[in-house]
This record gives sequence, C-alpha cells and structure tokens, in this order.
Amino acid sequence: MKSRRRPYAEQRPQDLGGGVWSVPVPIPGSPLGYTLVYAVESPKGPVLVDAGWNHPDAWEALSGGLAALGLDVNAVRGVVVTHFHPDHAGLAGQVKEASGAWIAMHEDDAALVRLMTEYVATGHDDFHADMLRRAGADPGEARQAMGERPTPPAQPDRELRDGDLVDLPGRKLRAVHTPGHTPGHICLHLEDADRIFTGDHVLPDITPHVGIYPYDRDDVDPLSDFLDSLDRVSDLSSLNGPLDALPAHEWIFPDVAARAAEIRHHHEEKLERLRALLTRRPQPLTIWEVAAMMTWNRPWDDLPPTLRGMAAGEAAAHLRTLEARGAIRRVAGVDPVRFQALDS
Ligand SMILES: [Zn+2]
Repeated sequence: MKSRRRPYAEQRPQDLGGGVWSVPVPIPGSPLGYTLVYAVESPKGPVLVDAGWNHPDAWEALSGGLAALGLDVNAVRGVVVTHFHPDHAGLAGQVKEASGAWIAMHEDDAALVRLMTEYVATGHDDFHADMLRRAGADPGEARQAMGERPTPPAQPDRELRDGDLVDLPGRKLRAVHTPGHTPGHICLHLEDADRIFTGDHVLPDITPHVGIYPYDRDDVDPLSDFLDSLDRVSDLSSLNGPLDALPAHEWIFPDVAARAAEIRHHHEEKLERLRALLTRRPQPLTIWEVAAMMTWNRPWDDLPPTLRGMAAGEAAAHLRTLEARGAIRRVAGVDPVRFQALDS
C-alpha cells in the first residue's frame, strides 16, 4: 500500500481549539512514527485520550509536549484509552503514577488485559507455537514468527461500555463501541464539539490491522464487526452532521463518514479477490497458504516472520467473514484447518 507517512520529527504539539490539544508521542523503532495523544480540558484537570508507547523518549515527549501547551502531566485527571495496544495504553500506568489519574477502557479490552497478564506469565510460547501450527506454518517458520512476549499495559480502574459518558466535568465525551481492530476498541464522540476521537478505527491513509487470534477460531468474526463499526461512525455523522476525526496516528481529517466508506470498500474488494482466489483453487488451502497468495504491501518472501504472522491473522479474518457469509467453507476435521470455495 502506498503511504503518505509524515515523520515524527515534523510533528509538533498543537492547540486544536475548543479545549482540545494534541501531542505527538514517538513509537521508537516503528514505521508508524508516533501516536497522537489528545488532551481535553476540564475544570478538574485534563483528560487524555490514549497515552502513547511505554518508553523514556515517549514519556519525555508526552510530559514535555503537554508542558509546551501549558498543561501539566501531574494534573491529568484521567486517561481513557481507545484500546489496549501498547502504542495507546503503554504510558497510561506512568501517567497514573505521576498524577493519580484513573485509567478507563472498554470492558472487553480490560478482559483481554487480564487474560494477557495471565498468559504472558505462563503459556505464551506454547500458545503461539500451537496457533501457528494449526494455521499451516511449518515448524521452523513458526518458531521465527513467534515474536517477543508482549508487556501487558496497566489494568484499568474503570471499565466502559457502549454509550457511557467519560468522567469529564463540563463536557460530553461518549464512548462508542467500535470492535474490530480489538474487541473492545472505542471511539470517543465529543458531542459538544462535532469531533470524534477515532483511535485506530478510522485513520486517514492506512487501515488498521484486523486479525483473528488464534487463527482458526470460528466463534468470532472481527472483520464483520469492524465493518459494522464503520457503519456506526457513519451513522453518528448522519445523525449529528459531519464529524471531524481526531485519529491516533497520521493526521486529523474532516468527515469521518467519507473515510469510513472508503475503508469499507477496500475490505469488500479484498473479500471479493479472496473469494475469487479460492474459487480458482479447488483443493482446500491452509490459512498460511492463503496468506502467501494474497497481496500485501511487499511480496510474501520479503515479509519478516512476525509480519507474516500478522498477515496470516488478517487472512484468517477475511476467510472467517467469507465463511460467515456462506461464500466458502471450512473443511471439517483436518489439522491444520483448511478452507475451500463453495460451488456456486
Ligand atoms: Zn492498535
């Protein structure tokens, strides 16, 4: 995918008006560059939307960026994270230590943080090896694709549900559950300002990763959830008029609904290409084989093992959606799991 990435070095903290500020916080070593952390004013101290990656440079950028805008990290009242990923929730714990802030996230991601804390301590490696094998990765590749053990973020103090108002005195900031990128991803609608903090759900140029883990689960359908969640933010716009999007990466953009429609189109095309691919190959294919045939931002052979693992997650999510729509089927009783087109 072509990218119009803007380097972190060109980013500055900004006063966006209406009691909203943005602070770019670097993600060391990531091509994504930075997380945009937002601060929303309240008489009892600012509330942050996301916090950034847990790293000393990131902390420096966050506390220094807030200070440059006349805000004090020690006065932060709360941190509401759009989802549990480390570039969003990573620094929330340190902000809490500095200011006594509460941390809030959706209850479904809070449950994942608990699960993650447990399995990082116990069965992480076995879990991954088994998951990769069942997707059809060969053992050598599976070992390389394992990746490092993740560091779970701080456990939230408050759990949010769809429609809840965030504790932000004098303003109306409402949680909109937008599952897909993670099960508990939320957008935050600043109802008094026609603005929506979109986290990773709607980004201006790239699309968020939507995958299934373990790859062979058939009890969830995150891509269908994600497409429904795109409709949710579009519906908010049709009810309230165009909403400005304040995403967690890249840049701020107008009219969230127009971009949501583009992203939906992108996935529908990808689903159609995948369905056609399976139709041309009558023999059942493993998730790994399917992933190797799909188009990624570089050739499969050039993808490092951990990115192959993510590509397989994305392939699995698209296969699951086609299965749920009745376009393909899962072959029963084989290991690794295989998929096949249905005769139309
Ligand atoms: Zn994310």
